[in-house]
Amino acid sequence: MATPRSAAATDYNHGDYSDGMNLTLIDIGSNLTHDSFASDRGAVMARASEAGVHGQVVTGADAASSAQAAALATAHPGVLWSTAGVHPHHASSLAASHEVLADLLRLPQVVAAGECGLDYCRNFSPPDMQRAAFAAQLAMAAAAAKPVFLHQRDAHADFVAILKDFRRGLVGGVAHCFTGGRGELEDYLALDLHIGVTGWVNDERRGQSLREALPHIPADRLMLETDAPYLLPRDLKPVPKSRRNEPSFLPHIARTIAQLRGESLAAVAESTTRNAIRFFGLEPLAEQRLKIGE
Ligand SMILES: [Zn+2]
Repeated sequence: MATPRSAAATDYNHGDYSDGMNLTLIDIGSNLTHDSFASDRGAVMARASEAGVHGQVVTGADAASSAQAAALATAHPGVLWSTAGVHPHHASSLAASHEVLADLLRLPQVVAAGECGLDYCRNFSPPDMQRAAFAAQLAMAAAAAKPVFLHQRDAHADFVAILKDFRRGLVGGVAHCFTGGRGELEDYLALDLHIGVTGWVNDERRGQSLREALPHIPADRLMLETDAPYLLPRDLKPVPKSRRNEPSFLPHIARTIAQLRGESLAAVAESTTRNAIRFFGLEPLAEQRLKIGE
């Protein structure tokens, strides 16, 4: 039996999450090259834009996915951009990928280095190798004069220490999928980082410290991301049933963030979109589609 929409506000039907509002959002962390999007990527992109997600920065996690992300961005100018880097899980592949990544970072549609950083949660690559790959990519970002898209899990102290060494040479950095509390937030703001928030914030249990930290993120530092297909917001129940997250769910995350910050959805949309345009240098989007400040 179908559940009436009014009785289950979190049930999701594709594309209906904009609530009729004229939102303009940017998903700064979308893994559109992931296998789970291979058969319907066009439909996923169409649903995103219907929901007001007019720009996406496609995450590169190794040389192959970074090249694929750049190709997607080339095919969709003004809608998709990409990052080029090696995730800490793949740190051992950096040496072989260095040249490919350096070439990709010269492309205008490749707007950040990363994702890169440290992940000691499962240590798919040994920590010393992760630290070396992280430092090498920070140096590449500095050389390319592009900001870094940063990943950190269970490695806060080492992460901050390495970043401190490189921060002066970097044009900017965003702590992607920030899940920490006040203490980690203060450390990141002291490094003048931007903060990317995902649907982790929709989880009242494991997202508790993030939910408490959220109102303390300065409005000019906050950006939004789904990290799709990962991290389906816990309070979303896609129809048809699926565990895959999608960029079109970003308005749902934005609404939760607005509530926790005591801001309107429109205000969160405007400030986070403005931040993403400035941080990544997405001027074509700003000129053609956003009409900010009008
Ligand atoms: Zn990540």
